[in-house]
Amino acid sequence: MRLSVPFVALDVQQRLLKPELMAAVEAVLDGGQFILGQEVADFEKSFAALAGCPAAVGIASGTCALVLSLRALGIGQGDEVITPANSFVASAAGVALTGARPVFVDVREDLNIDPALIEPAITPRTRAIIPVHLTGRPAAMDRIGEIATRRGLAVVEDAAQAVGARFAGRPIGSFGEIGCFSLHPLKNLGACGDAGVVTVRDESLARALRNARNHGLRDRDTCEAWSYNCRLDTLQAAILNVKLRHLERWTIAKRRIAARYRDALAGVVGVPDERPDEFGVYQTFVVRAERRDDLQRYLAQRGVDSRIHYPLPLHLQEAARPLGYRKGDFPVTERLATEILSLPIYPELADAQAEAVIAGVTSFYAGRG
Ligand SMILES: *Cc1c(COP(=O)(O)O)cnc(C)c1O
Repeated sequence: MRLSVPFVALDVQQRLLKPELMAAVEAVLDGGQFILGQEVADFEKSFAALAGCPAAVGIASGTCALVLSLRALGIGQGDEVITPANSFVASAAGVALTGARPVFVDVREDLNIDPALIEPAITPRTRAIIPVHLTGRPAAMDRIGEIATRRGLAVVEDAAQAVGARFAGRPIGSFGEIGCFSLHPLKNLGACGDAGVVTVRDESLARALRNARNHGLRDRDTCEAWSYNCRLDTLQAAILNVKLRHLERWTIAKRRIAARYRDALAGVVGVPDERPDEFGVYQTFVVRAERRDDLQRYLAQRGVDSRIHYPLPLHLQEAARPLGYRKGDFPVTERLATEILSLPIYPELADAQAEAVIAGVTSFYAGRG
Protein backbone atom coordinates (compact mmCIF):
# COMPACT_ATOMS: atom_id res chain seq x y z
CA MET A 1 0.00 0.00 0.00
CA ARG A 2 1.29 3.42 -0.90
CA LEU A 3 1.53 5.86 1.98
CA SER A 4 0.56 9.38 1.02
CA VAL A 5 2.52 12.25 2.54
CA PRO A 6 0.79 15.63 2.13
CA PHE A 7 2.97 18.73 2.45
CA VAL A 8 0.78 20.13 5.22
CA ALA A 9 -1.85 18.54 7.45
CA LEU A 10 -3.48 21.37 9.36
CA ASP A 11 -6.70 19.38 9.66
CA VAL A 12 -4.90 16.74 11.76
CA GLN A 13 -3.63 19.29 14.26
CA GLN A 14 -6.98 21.07 14.60
CA ARG A 15 -8.74 17.72 15.11
CA LEU A 16 -6.39 16.81 17.95
CA LEU A 17 -6.86 20.20 19.62
CA LYS A 18 -10.54 20.64 18.88
CA PRO A 19 -11.93 20.34 22.43
CA GLU A 20 -9.40 22.87 23.77
CA LEU A 21 -9.86 25.21 20.82
CA MET A 22 -13.66 25.11 20.96
CA ALA A 23 -13.62 25.91 24.68
CA ALA A 24 -11.40 28.94 24.04
CA VAL A 25 -13.54 30.14 21.13
CA GLU A 26 -16.70 29.69 23.16
CA ALA A 27 -15.30 31.76 26.01
CA VAL A 28 -14.69 34.65 23.59
CA LEU A 29 -18.18 34.35 22.09
CA ASP A 30 -19.76 34.29 25.54
CA GLY A 31 -17.65 37.24 26.71
CA GLY A 32 -18.64 39.40 23.74
CA GLN A 33 -15.27 41.19 23.68
CA PHE A 34 -14.07 40.79 20.09
CA ILE A 35 -11.45 43.53 19.74
CA LEU A 36 -8.32 43.42 21.94
CA GLY A 37 -9.09 42.62 25.59
CA GLN A 38 -7.86 39.89 27.92
CA GLU A 39 -7.03 37.14 25.43
CA VAL A 40 -4.78 39.47 23.44
CA ALA A 41 -3.07 40.75 26.60
CA ASP A 42 -2.56 37.19 27.86
CA PHE A 43 -1.06 36.10 24.56
CA GLU A 44 1.27 39.09 24.46
CA LYS A 45 2.52 38.34 27.96
CA SER A 46 3.24 34.67 27.15
CA PHE A 47 4.85 35.49 23.82
CA ALA A 48 7.11 38.16 25.32
CA ALA A 49 8.33 35.60 27.86
CA LEU A 50 8.95 33.04 25.10
CA ALA A 51 11.05 35.56 23.15
CA GLY A 52 12.90 36.82 26.19
CA CYS A 53 11.60 40.37 25.68
CA PRO A 54 9.90 42.75 28.12
CA ALA A 55 6.99 43.34 25.73
CA ALA A 56 5.11 41.88 22.77
CA VAL A 57 2.35 43.51 20.74
CA GLY A 58 -0.22 41.46 18.84
CA ILE A 59 -0.57 42.50 15.18
CA ALA A 60 -2.90 41.39 12.39
CA SER A 61 -0.19 39.65 10.34
CA GLY A 62 3.56 39.29 9.87
CA THR A 63 3.47 41.73 6.97
CA CYS A 64 1.69 44.39 9.05
CA ALA A 65 4.25 43.73 11.79
CA LEU A 66 7.10 44.62 9.42
CA VAL A 67 5.41 47.76 8.10
CA LEU A 68 4.42 49.08 11.53
CA SER A 69 7.85 48.29 12.98
CA LEU A 70 9.77 50.19 10.31
CA ARG A 71 7.35 53.13 10.59
CA ALA A 72 7.71 53.12 14.38
CA LEU A 73 11.47 53.49 13.87
CA GLY A 74 10.82 56.51 11.65
CA ILE A 75 11.79 54.74 8.42
CA GLY A 76 10.09 55.80 5.19
CA GLN A 77 10.51 57.77 1.96
CA GLY A 78 14.17 58.34 1.04
CA ASP A 79 15.51 55.63 3.33
CA GLU A 80 17.10 52.30 2.44
CA VAL A 81 16.71 49.01 4.28
CA ILE A 82 18.99 46.02 3.69
CA THR A 83 17.34 42.61 3.39
CA PRO A 84 18.20 39.26 1.75
CA ALA A 85 17.30 38.58 -1.90
CA ASN A 86 16.12 35.13 -0.84
CA SER A 87 12.91 35.35 1.19
CA PHE A 88 9.15 35.40 1.02
CA VAL A 89 7.87 38.49 -0.82
CA ALA A 90 6.58 40.09 2.40
CA SER A 91 10.14 40.80 3.62
CA ALA A 92 10.59 43.23 0.72
CA ALA A 93 7.00 44.44 0.72
CA GLY A 94 7.31 45.43 4.38
CA VAL A 95 10.07 47.85 3.40
CA ALA A 96 8.54 49.14 0.16
CA LEU A 97 5.15 49.80 1.76
CA THR A 98 6.74 52.34 4.13
CA GLY A 99 8.06 54.27 1.11
CA ALA A 100 11.64 53.13 1.79
CA ARG A 101 13.75 51.20 -0.72
CA PRO A 102 14.56 47.53 -0.17
CA VAL A 103 18.27 46.94 -0.87
CA PHE A 104 18.92 43.26 -1.46
CA VAL A 105 21.97 41.31 -0.37
CA ASP A 106 22.89 37.77 -1.41
CA VAL A 107 22.66 34.80 0.96
CA ARG A 108 24.94 31.97 2.05
CA GLU A 109 24.37 28.26 1.44
CA ASP A 110 22.36 28.29 4.69
CA LEU A 111 19.78 30.44 2.80
CA ASN A 112 20.26 33.40 5.17
CA ILE A 113 21.75 36.84 4.51
CA ASP A 114 25.54 36.76 4.03
CA PRO A 115 26.93 39.06 6.73
CA ALA A 116 30.10 39.67 4.67
CA LEU A 117 27.99 41.36 1.97
CA ILE A 118 26.07 43.73 4.25
CA GLU A 119 28.68 46.48 4.66
CA PRO A 120 29.30 46.94 0.91
CA ALA A 121 25.52 47.54 0.54
CA ILE A 122 25.41 50.32 3.15
CA THR A 123 24.99 53.88 1.81
CA PRO A 124 24.38 57.21 3.58
CA ARG A 125 20.64 56.47 3.22
CA THR A 126 20.72 53.08 4.93
CA ARG A 127 18.69 53.05 8.13
CA ALA A 128 18.13 49.42 9.03
CA ILE A 129 18.94 45.77 8.38
CA ILE A 130 16.20 43.14 8.21
CA PRO A 131 17.75 39.72 8.66
CA VAL A 132 15.30 36.94 7.84
CA HIS A 133 15.59 33.73 9.84
CA LEU A 134 14.53 31.70 6.84
CA THR A 135 13.28 28.12 7.34
CA GLY A 136 13.40 28.79 11.10
CA ARG A 137 17.21 28.82 11.05
CA PRO A 138 18.74 31.79 12.86
CA ALA A 139 20.68 34.31 10.79
CA ALA A 140 24.22 35.24 11.93
CA MET A 141 23.00 37.64 14.62
CA ASP A 142 26.44 38.11 16.21
CA ARG A 143 27.98 39.56 13.06
CA ILE A 144 24.83 41.41 12.01
CA GLY A 145 24.48 43.00 15.45
CA GLU A 146 28.13 44.05 15.40
CA ILE A 147 27.76 45.73 11.98
CA ALA A 148 24.52 47.46 12.98
CA THR A 149 26.01 48.85 16.18
CA ARG A 150 29.18 50.06 14.49
CA ARG A 151 27.28 51.68 11.59
CA GLY A 152 24.41 53.07 13.66
CA LEU A 153 21.67 51.00 11.98
CA ALA A 154 18.51 49.55 13.45
CA VAL A 155 17.86 45.81 13.26
CA VAL A 156 14.34 44.54 12.64
CA GLU A 157 14.25 40.74 12.65
CA ASP A 158 11.95 39.06 10.16
CA ALA A 159 11.26 36.15 12.50
CA ALA A 160 8.11 35.12 10.62
CA GLN A 161 9.44 31.56 10.28
CA ALA A 162 11.34 31.36 13.54
CA VAL A 163 9.01 31.16 16.56
CA GLY A 164 11.03 29.51 19.33
CA ALA A 165 14.38 29.55 17.50
CA ARG A 166 17.54 30.55 19.36
CA PHE A 167 20.98 31.87 18.46
CA ALA A 168 23.80 31.35 20.97
CA GLY A 169 21.17 30.37 23.53
CA ARG A 170 19.21 33.60 23.13
CA PRO A 171 15.68 33.67 21.66
CA ILE A 172 15.18 34.96 18.13
CA GLY A 173 13.19 38.19 18.32
CA SER A 174 15.30 39.53 21.20
CA PHE A 175 18.29 40.64 19.09
CA GLY A 176 16.89 43.52 17.07
CA GLU A 177 15.05 46.66 18.14
CA ILE A 178 11.95 44.76 17.03
CA GLY A 179 11.23 41.13 16.14
CA CYS A 180 8.41 40.49 13.65
CA PHE A 181 6.58 37.17 13.78
CA SER A 182 3.88 35.75 11.52
CA LEU A 183 1.27 33.47 13.09
CA HIS A 184 -0.26 32.53 9.72
CA PRO A 185 -1.79 29.03 9.86
CA LEU A 186 1.21 27.51 8.06
CA LYS A 187 3.81 28.95 10.43
CA ASN A 188 5.22 26.94 13.36
CA LEU A 189 2.80 28.65 15.73
CA GLY A 190 -0.24 29.19 13.53
CA ALA A 191 -3.61 30.75 14.25
CA CYS A 192 -6.82 29.67 12.49
CA GLY A 193 -6.54 32.67 10.18
CA ASP A 194 -4.13 35.58 9.83
CA ALA A 195 -2.22 36.80 12.87
CA GLY A 196 1.15 38.21 13.89
CA VAL A 197 3.09 39.64 16.82
CA VAL A 198 6.10 41.86 17.43
CA THR A 199 8.59 41.59 20.27
CA VAL A 200 10.10 44.79 21.59
CA ARG A 201 12.91 45.52 24.00
CA ASP A 202 12.00 49.15 24.64
CA GLU A 203 8.76 50.09 26.43
CA SER A 204 8.25 53.39 24.58
CA LEU A 205 8.56 51.55 21.26
CA ALA A 206 6.00 49.01 22.52
CA ARG A 207 3.62 51.85 23.35
CA ALA A 208 4.11 53.38 19.89
CA LEU A 209 3.34 50.02 18.27
CA ARG A 210 0.23 49.52 20.40
CA ASN A 211 -1.05 52.86 19.13
CA ALA A 212 0.11 52.23 15.56
CA ARG A 213 -1.87 48.98 15.25
CA ASN A 214 -5.00 50.80 16.42
CA HIS A 215 -5.47 53.77 14.05
CA GLY A 216 -2.68 55.70 15.76
CA LEU A 217 -5.02 56.28 18.70
CA ARG A 218 -3.34 57.14 22.00
CA ASP A 219 -6.70 56.96 23.73
CA ARG A 220 -10.23 56.60 22.45
CA ASP A 221 -10.36 60.02 20.78
CA THR A 222 -6.77 61.19 20.33
CA CYS A 223 -4.97 60.24 17.12
CA GLU A 224 -1.24 60.93 17.36
CA ALA A 225 -0.44 59.86 13.77
CA TRP A 226 -2.52 58.39 10.90
CA SER A 227 -2.14 54.66 11.00
CA TYR A 228 -3.65 51.33 10.10
CA ASN A 229 -6.13 49.00 11.71
CA CYS A 230 -3.71 46.10 12.26
CA ARG A 231 -4.77 44.55 15.56
CA LEU A 232 -4.37 40.89 16.47
CA ASP A 233 -7.90 39.50 16.42
CA THR A 234 -9.22 38.45 19.85
CA LEU A 235 -10.54 35.10 18.60
CA GLN A 236 -7.15 34.33 17.09
CA ALA A 237 -5.44 35.32 20.33
CA ALA A 238 -7.67 32.87 22.24
CA ILE A 239 -6.71 30.13 19.77
CA LEU A 240 -3.03 31.04 20.03
CA ASN A 241 -3.17 30.85 23.83
CA VAL A 242 -4.21 27.21 23.45
CA LYS A 243 -1.60 26.42 20.82
CA LEU A 244 1.21 28.09 22.71
CA ARG A 245 0.87 25.37 25.35
CA HIS A 246 1.86 22.80 22.71
CA LEU A 247 4.62 24.71 20.95
CA GLU A 248 7.57 23.22 22.79
CA ARG A 249 6.38 19.68 22.12
CA TRP A 250 5.84 20.52 18.44
CA THR A 251 9.31 22.04 18.14
CA ILE A 252 10.87 18.92 19.64
CA ALA A 253 8.90 16.73 17.22
CA LYS A 254 9.95 18.80 14.20
CA ARG A 255 13.58 18.83 15.25
CA ARG A 256 13.45 15.04 15.61
CA ILE A 257 12.13 14.66 12.06
CA ALA A 258 14.77 17.11 10.81
CA ALA A 259 17.52 15.06 12.50
CA ARG A 260 16.16 11.87 10.90
CA TYR A 261 16.06 13.50 7.43
CA ARG A 262 19.54 14.90 7.90
CA ASP A 263 21.05 11.54 8.91
CA ALA A 264 19.32 9.61 6.15
CA LEU A 265 19.73 12.11 3.30
CA ALA A 266 23.23 13.55 3.87
CA GLY A 267 25.30 12.74 0.81
CA VAL A 268 22.17 12.10 -1.27
CA VAL A 269 21.07 15.76 -1.37
CA GLY A 270 22.40 18.87 0.35
CA VAL A 271 20.89 18.92 3.83
CA PRO A 272 20.76 21.87 6.26
CA ASP A 273 23.49 21.50 8.87
CA GLU A 274 23.23 22.94 12.37
CA ARG A 275 26.08 25.02 13.73
CA PRO A 276 26.69 24.69 17.49
CA ASP A 277 25.26 28.16 18.25
CA GLU A 278 22.06 27.53 16.26
CA PHE A 279 18.75 26.14 17.49
CA GLY A 280 16.57 25.98 14.39
CA VAL A 281 12.84 25.26 14.41
CA TYR A 282 12.43 23.94 10.84
CA GLN A 283 9.51 25.96 9.58
CA THR A 284 10.59 24.14 6.42
CA PHE A 285 13.18 21.43 5.77
CA VAL A 286 14.89 22.59 2.60
CA VAL A 287 17.28 20.31 0.74
CA ARG A 288 19.47 21.24 -2.24
CA ALA A 289 18.93 18.75 -5.00
CA GLU A 290 20.39 18.01 -8.42
CA ARG A 291 17.68 17.60 -11.07
CA ARG A 292 15.33 19.18 -8.55
CA ASP A 293 12.26 19.35 -10.80
CA ASP A 294 12.59 15.68 -11.81
CA LEU A 295 12.94 14.75 -8.13
CA GLN A 296 9.83 16.71 -7.26
CA ARG A 297 7.83 14.96 -10.01
CA TYR A 298 9.17 11.55 -8.97
CA LEU A 299 8.18 12.17 -5.34
CA ALA A 300 4.71 13.31 -6.40
CA GLN A 301 4.22 10.04 -8.32
CA ARG A 302 5.01 8.20 -5.09
CA GLY A 303 2.50 10.29 -3.14
CA VAL A 304 5.08 12.56 -1.49
CA ASP A 305 4.15 16.22 -1.76
CA SER A 306 6.91 18.86 -1.75
CA ARG A 307 7.19 22.60 -2.38
CA ILE A 308 9.71 25.21 -3.49
CA HIS A 309 10.41 28.10 -1.09
CA TYR A 310 10.93 30.18 -3.20
CA PRO A 311 11.17 29.63 -6.97
CA LEU A 312 11.62 33.31 -7.93
CA PRO A 313 14.06 35.51 -5.95
CA LEU A 314 12.80 38.87 -4.71
CA HIS A 315 14.91 41.01 -7.08
CA LEU A 316 13.44 39.20 -10.10
CA GLN A 317 9.81 39.66 -9.05
CA GLU A 318 7.65 41.87 -11.23
CA ALA A 319 7.02 44.12 -8.22
CA ALA A 320 10.79 44.72 -7.91
CA ARG A 321 11.19 46.00 -11.47
CA PRO A 322 11.36 49.69 -10.47
CA LEU A 323 14.34 48.85 -8.23
CA GLY A 324 16.41 48.11 -11.34
CA TYR A 325 17.97 44.78 -10.42
CA ARG A 326 18.96 42.23 -13.07
CA LYS A 327 19.43 38.51 -13.37
CA GLY A 328 22.95 37.72 -12.18
CA ASP A 329 22.96 40.30 -9.38
CA PHE A 330 22.65 37.69 -6.61
CA PRO A 331 24.26 34.48 -7.91
CA VAL A 332 23.90 32.34 -4.77
CA THR A 333 20.20 33.19 -4.38
CA GLU A 334 19.59 32.55 -8.08
CA ARG A 335 21.40 29.19 -8.04
CA LEU A 336 19.64 28.08 -4.85
CA ALA A 337 16.28 28.88 -6.44
CA THR A 338 16.96 26.09 -8.96
CA GLU A 339 18.15 23.56 -6.35
CA ILE A 340 15.94 23.95 -3.28
CA LEU A 341 13.09 21.64 -2.38
CA SER A 342 11.08 21.68 0.85
CA LEU A 343 10.16 18.24 2.22
CA PRO A 344 7.07 17.66 4.40
CA ILE A 345 7.77 18.41 8.06
CA TYR A 346 5.15 18.87 10.78
CA PRO A 347 4.72 17.52 14.31
CA GLU A 348 1.95 15.15 13.26
CA LEU A 349 4.03 13.55 10.48
CA ALA A 350 4.19 9.82 11.29
CA ASP A 351 7.50 7.95 11.35
CA ALA A 352 6.32 5.80 8.44
CA GLN A 353 5.59 8.95 6.43
CA ALA A 354 9.07 10.35 7.13
CA GLU A 355 10.53 7.01 6.00
CA ALA A 356 8.45 7.20 2.81
CA VAL A 357 9.93 10.65 2.08
CA ILE A 358 13.46 9.32 2.67
CA ALA A 359 12.82 6.22 0.53
CA GLY A 360 11.49 8.42 -2.28
CA VAL A 361 14.52 10.71 -2.35
CA THR A 362 17.10 7.93 -2.04
CA SER A 363 15.51 5.71 -4.68
CA PHE A 364 15.39 8.64 -7.14
CA TYR A 365 19.16 9.07 -6.90
CA ALA A 366 19.77 5.30 -6.86
CA GLY A 367 18.74 5.50 -10.50
CA ARG A 368 15.18 4.32 -10.15
CA GLY A 369 13.83 7.83 -10.85
C1 LIG B 1 5.02 34.42 6.30
C2 LIG B 1 6.11 35.39 6.17
C3 LIG B 1 5.90 36.78 6.25
C4 LIG B 1 4.54 37.40 6.26
O1 LIG B 1 3.71 37.00 7.26
P1 LIG B 1 2.10 37.09 7.06
O2 LIG B 1 1.59 36.79 8.42
O3 LIG B 1 1.74 36.07 6.04
O4 LIG B 1 1.80 38.46 6.62
C5 LIG B 1 7.00 37.62 6.23
N1 LIG B 1 8.25 37.14 6.10
C6 LIG B 1 8.50 35.82 5.98
C7 LIG B 1 9.91 35.35 5.86
C8 LIG B 1 7.44 34.91 6.00
O5 LIG B 1 7.70 33.61 5.86
